[in-house]
Amino acid sequence: MPREYACRKCKSLTSGKVCPVCGSTNLSTEWSGLVVVLNPEKSDVARSLTITKPGRYALRVS
Ligand SMILES: [Zn+2]
Repeated sequence: MPREYACRKCKSLTSGKVCPVCGSTNLSTEWSGLVVVLNPEKSDVARSLTITKPGRYALRVS
């Protein structure tokens, strides 16, 4: 598993210390599942996860 952090607020994945999507620093290394969202408006997965921006997201963050 790559050393990445998942944002606890929006579930976005990042290798940095700040979430690039919502700006939160509330990040976790305890995450599972990976979803790549290219087109949030047309993705049911994105809708169910309330994702509004393209990117890579974790399905579960603890
Ligand atoms: Zn975030």
